[in-house]
Amino acid sequence: MSDLDEQEKLVLDAVARFLERHVRPVASKLEHDDAYPHEIVARMKEMGLFGAIIPQEFGGLGLRPSTYARIIELISEEWMSVSGILNSHLIMARIVDKMGTPAQRARFLPQFATGELRGGLALTEPDCGTDLQAIRTMARRDGDYYIINGTKTWISNGIEGSCFALLVKTDLTATPRHHGMAMFIAEKGPGFTVSRKLEKLGYKGIDSAELVFTDYRIPADRLIGGVEGKGLACAIAGLELGRVNVAARGVGVAKRALDEAVRYSQQRKTFGKFIHEHQAIALKLADMAVRVEAARLLTEKAAHALDRSDRSDYEAGMAKLFATEAAVENSLEAMRIHGGYGYSKEFVVERLYRDAPLLVIGEGSNEIQRLVIAKRLIEKNPI
Ligand SMILES: Cc1cc2nc3c(=O)[nH]c(=O)nc-3n(C[C@H](O)[C@H](O)[C@H](O)COP(=O)(O)OP(=O)(O)OC[C@H]3O[C@@H](n4cnc5c(N)ncnc54)[C@H](O)[C@@H]3O)c2cc1C
Repeated sequence: MSDLDEQEKLVLDAVARFLERHVRPVASKLEHDDAYPHEIVARMKEMGLFGAIIPQEFGGLGLRPSTYARIIELISEEWMSVSGILNSHLIMARIVDKMGTPAQRARFLPQFATGELRGGLALTEPDCGTDLQAIRTMARRDGDYYIINGTKTWISNGIEGSCFALLVKTDLTATPRHHGMAMFIAEKGPGFTVSRKLEKLGYKGIDSAELVFTDYRIPADRLIGGVEGKGLACAIAGLELGRVNVAARGVGVAKRALDEAVRYSQQRKTFGKFIHEHQAIALKLADMAVRVEAARLLTEKAAHALDRSDRSDYEAGMAKLFATEAAVENSLEAMRIHGGYGYSKEFVVERLYRDAPLLVIGEGSNEIQRLVIAKRLIEKNPI
């Protein structure tokens, strides 16, 4: 924690206490019941976490992305779903902060910072996720309004949230395709409905929903940045933070899997020995620990690049790729080390094993991260 200032240390200490007292005791029950953690959210509001990276002039905590990444790592060690409630909201806030007009920043950032107005990011559609420029949700100008029609799916906070950074097309025929894209700050209202809650393998507790827009009228001043054609740039501005956040989640899940395995291997005996004394288990523990440390270093490097507002797709791609694969591998290894108990709902490793795979899919799948890394590698090393 050497690079942190006093305020950042205080925030991280407060988060650690909050997790120990208010999240750890209830996480398993809420997760297995797929119940939204209302009390946890209320406490996060009180702590100002919904404004973690929002500038202080707008009522936020003004934390650096690298400090925010540490918060996400701590939360994900306890219960990854809680990090999603926060992060989808803060991606929306970051887009408004980086790409919004002064009036949009002044109007929305203070409400986002208190958590009174909460929500997330609405990009994905039933027919496309990775290929964002193929979206079909359409916004048509009508005087001082736009009329929006289309469907978004898999939207985190879709039920409990009330405001979303909504990616749309304004021109289906534009070339290149992103010139016909725009993003709106869309609050729920007539024409904007939740059609269904989506059931999932893991990442329970947080609501994932399908959102339907039917002649939804939105004032033109909700167009982020005030001009059409910036939709993809808005999405990219948000996903920069999202990638570092997902990497930090990976570190948290991988670390918890390691901790559980280290503890259990000193409790369980087979053939007259604690299982960590069997070399086959010791080797697994060592590999798991290396993964956690390497994932954390890559994530810190990417987060510090964001702190400096440097271009960070190469670093963030590596961090996201490595840390999320580490989470998948460590959660499986932790399950093996726990033997039959690892398959039991009474042990946390079962939840880690169900949560981890989401990380390789979201915020740009790991296949895409590899392509981004390779492309940048060639750009950086021309011959
Ligand atoms: C629990 C959960 C929460 C989510 N939350 C949100 C949210 O809040 N907001 C939101 O907008 N979306 C959200 N998503 C959607 C998520 O971002 C998408 O699922 C993701 O972007 C992948 O898109 P897709 O599912 O359409 O897969 P596809 O794009 O159809 O990809 C299918 C497969 O093909 C691979 N692939 C695709 N294109 C290429 C290529 N060019 N080269 C190599 N491989 C390729 C992909 O890596 C993947 O393996 C969420 C998803 C889940 C499961």
